[in-house]
This record gives sequence, structure tokens and C-alpha cells, in this order.
Amino acid sequence: MNTDVLIVGAGPTGLMAANQLERFGIDFIIIDSKSGPTVESRAILVTSRSIEIYQQMGLSDQVVNNGKKVTSFNLFTNGKVRGEVQIGELGKEQSEFSYLLAFEQFKNEKLLSERLDNLGKSVLWEHEYLKMLEYENKVTAMVRHQGEEFVIEAKYIIGCEGAKSPIRHELDFSFRGGTYEQKFFVADTVMEAEIGSDKLIVSPGKENFVALMPETNAHTYRVLGTLPSKFNKKDDVTFNDIKETVKKTLNLQIDFKEVNWFSIYKLHHRAVDHFSEGRVFLAGDSAHIHSPAGGQGMNTGLQDAYNLCWKLAMVLKGQAPERLLRTYNEERMPFAKWLLKFTDRGFTFMSSRNIFIRVFRKLFGLPMAGILMKREKIRKLAFKTVSQIGWSYNEHSIAEDTSTPELEFYAGDRFPYFIQDNLYLKLTEPAFHLVHIGTNPLSEADWNGFKETFTGDLILVEDPIIEKWNSLGVTNELIILVRPDNYIAYIADGYDQQQLNEYLKKVGLKA
Ligand SMILES: Cc1cc2nc3c(=O)[nH]c(=O)nc-3n(C[C@H](O)[C@H](O)[C@H](O)COP(=O)(O)OP(=O)(O)OC[C@H]3O[C@@H](n4cnc5c(N)ncnc54)[C@H](O)[C@@H]3O)c2cc1C
Repeated sequence: MNTDVLIVGAGPTGLMAANQLERFGIDFIIIDSKSGPTVESRAILVTSRSIEIYQQMGLSDQVVNNGKKVTSFNLFTNGKVRGEVQIGELGKEQSEFSYLLAFEQFKNEKLLSERLDNLGKSVLWEHEYLKMLEYENKVTAMVRHQGEEFVIEAKYIIGCEGAKSPIRHELDFSFRGGTYEQKFFVADTVMEAEIGSDKLIVSPGKENFVALMPETNAHTYRVLGTLPSKFNKKDDVTFNDIKETVKKTLNLQIDFKEVNWFSIYKLHHRAVDHFSEGRVFLAGDSAHIHSPAGGQGMNTGLQDAYNLCWKLAMVLKGQAPERLLRTYNEERMPFAKWLLKFTDRGFTFMSSRNIFIRVFRKLFGLPMAGILMKREKIRKLAFKTVSQIGWSYNEHSIAEDTSTPELEFYAGDRFPYFIQDNLYLKLTEPAFHLVHIGTNPLSEADWNGFKETFTGDLILVEDPIIEKWNSLGVTNELIILVRPDNYIAYIADGYDQQQLNEYLKKVGLKA
């Protein structure tokens, strides 16, 4: 079998990669050793940034209509509210999806794999990746299906095969970090509780740390936390064993009716120190794993795939040199490093049983967090961070700003999101978009100059200079070159052939 891209692993990351490559018309094969998509809930929350990707793919209505909005985030100790944030209002001016949405991993996988089925590009289930050989211009992978081994030849491989990644091991990538001492439990439960069924609750206690996350079905909650230490050495621990400790830590009126899934595992926080080597790329859990604090795991895998695939598409179509692929590592590695630190600090603060941290947490940390969460600025920042809409690639090689006014956004940022008159709805094609903001449309000569100088597919979007732009510092003509993943590549005051040539030459996109 021959293809342009072989995707190994059809979890959320691999499925997003396949869907993105399909959008760009790139030939791919996606394989997974399992017999079908995940049936367990696993990750629960999808962030605004992920729903924005679904919106670009025409799938956001299905996600939102089949998900459940998490209304508030609550910090509890001993059943007392230490801080409460109404999530629905948090990101109000920042995204149409200004909330956290429960839309479980199995639903994401079903949505993405059904889209592939409908397009005749189904996952090859029960196909196990074994090993590879890399050549100058291709990679060959040995794959096993129903006891038979055969070769798939591809120009590139994306390893999305999860935390144990055989590809990462085979290529001997480092995977530095550590393993938390405490064991961790997760349970999907049906319960009756005084708190209703749409609040996210985090409650660090003396014996353990417990969090409740609403799932999409009524009265169904994910209960997760650290295993009380007295069960550390016990085999076959059940949810019944820890139920009373969980209730004690939460100190809430809860009646657990059913347990649909219960699992205990060790948590790791590790990341590679580079995402790619030659013709091989890693994405999602194969490149970084961390605690579920902040619900970032699945979302980060989706963003990795989204960042990589338009670059692969341009290189495969001959629209960009191979060096564009280096920017995948350049842009995603800092995020992975930051994420590991962010989730590690949050998790350690909430779950540590160290006496000093416990006292600090109780006397200062939690009351302070409660006070800070009342501040509008902090709440907005928290939403920006958790929803992943605030991350910028502004220090990286594709981003360049030659404009003169002081703007409220920079090259490398996510394109500004306006709730009214949302330009994102015009940025849905698998192409670069040239957003021209001006009192008159861009002249035909300037547009032709742009098109002829740029190697990739380019679509012109006109928008008048109106109040929404004024509020971001735009008062005169402005040109914004938007990448296919809706991050800003280049900003200029207008069409300047020489400046544009220099920029496109530098990033390898000059015709
Ligand atoms: C119990 C549990 C609870 C979790 N809860 C949360 C949560 O609340 N929030 C959160 O953000 N994250 C959570 N996560 C993490 C989240 O599930 C992962 O971050 C996410 O699944 C990563 O997606 P992925 O596609 O990169 O990898 P995976 O989902 O692991 O997918 C990898 C795929 O590769 C396939 N594969 C592996 N080896 C091979 C091979 N040799 N050949 C072919 N195919 C192969 C596997 O079958 C699998 O389908 C949880 C994880 C677990 C295990």
C-alpha cells in the first residue's frame, strides 16, 4: 500500500489529523490496533479553541447540541465554597463558545471517525503498527492485520499512538519528566446530589483530593482524585471501598446510584524534547502526558494535529519547502513544556499530602484563590488559559508584523474573534486568507500582486474599518494574512511589494 501520510493511532489526535488532511485533499491512511473507537468516556471537556476548530469544519453545532455546558467552577473545602466562577460569563467577549463544554472523548472520536466514514476514508481498525524503515524520500512501516504482516509506504508518518508510543521508543526520543507518587482513580457515576449536575468541583481534603466533572448524561458525573493512601497496597480496590472517603472529602449530600466505569492508575508528567525527526512526527499523548488538571490532554492533541496538517499539506502540494515543517516543533514544543508545568503545579498544589503544602493550601492558598477568582481580570485570564484561546505563536518564525500603529493583537496570535459579525465564519476554507480592512476594497492590482507572489491557496476577505476594529487599535487600512489554522502570519499597513517579498521569501512561501 502507498500513501502520502500514514497516521498511526485513531484516538482524538489521529482522527483530527486524518480529518484535517482530508480537508486539504491529501492522501492518507489511518490505522489503529483496536477494533473501533473508544467506548469509555476518558477525557470529558472540550475547550473553546477545540470547538472553534469544529466550527471551521462545520461540526460545532453537533458538538454543542450533544454536549453539556459546565455552568460554574467551584473550589470547595469541607463542603464550603471557597471560590466560585460562573463559567458561562467568563469568555463572553472572547469566543462564541465562551464556556467549558462536557463532550466526552468517545463522542469526539465518534464524530471524527463518522466524518471519515462518510467521505470513504475510514480508519483501518485492527491494524497494528510494528516498525519502520526511513529512507531519504519515504518511510516504510510494517503493519499486522489478522496475523498477516505487510508494508505501507508513505512520504511521512504521524505517530498518534498514545502515551506508550512504539514509534517514540523505536526512534529513541527522550521522554523526560516523572511519575506522581500517589495513585489516581477515575469513576463515571450516576448520582443524586444537592449540587445539581452541571458544576465542576475541585475539593482538596486531608485524606485525598477529589474533583467532580459533569458528563453529558443527566446526573452522570466523573469523580476523580488521588487514591486514599490506605488503599495504596490493596489489590482490586473498588469504588465502594473509597466511596466514604470521597464523600468525607467533599462533605456534600451525595447519593451514588451507579458506577459505570472505575479505574486506578499511576499518573505521569513527561514530554519529548522534540516533536519530529526526519519524516516522522509525534502528536498528542505520544509526545506529552500530564495530569488531567485543567482538562487539557485531549484538547492539546487536537491542536497538535491542527497545527501540523496544513503545513504537511502545503509541503506535499509543493507550495512550501520542507523547512516549514520545522515550525511544528518550534510552535508546539513551548506549549507542551508550559502545559506540563501548569498542570504539574496545579495538581501538586491541590493533591499534595505534604504537611507544609496542606497548611499553606488551607490557610492561604485556597482563601487567596477564592479572592482572586472574584476579580474580573483574573477570571478572564483564567478562561483564556484553560480554553487555550490565549496561546500565541508570536515569537516564532512564521509571525511578522510590519504595521505602524499600536494594535491590541500581534502576528502569531489567534485571529481576533468577534461575537457580532464573526469573521471566523469566512475563514473556513483549507487555505490562507488575506483579510483586508479598509474603507475601499483592495485594488485589483494589489490583490493580483499578492496572489502572484504567494505560493499557497489564498482567499480575499474584505472587512470595513468599523468600531470593532477601532477598539483593537485599527483606524487605517490594514492587511492581515491568516494561516489555515486561523493564527495570524503577517500584518502590514497595506500592500507593499518589497516588504511582502521579503517576508514570503523568509518563510519560504514566495512564488
Ligand atoms: C482513564 C483516563 C482518563 C482520562 N481523563 C482525562 C480527562 O478528564 N481530561 C483530559 O484532558 N484527558 C484525560 N485523559 C487523557 C486523554 O484521554 C488523552 O490525552 C487523549 O486520549 C490523547 O489522545 P491521543 O489520540 O493522543 O492518544 P490515545 O487516545 O491514547 O490514542 C492512541 C491510539 O493509538 C492506538 N495505538 C496504540 N499503539 C498502536 C499500534 N502499535 N498500532 C496501531 N495503533 C496503535 C490506540 O489503540 C489508540 O486508539 C484520560 C486518560 C485516561 C486513560
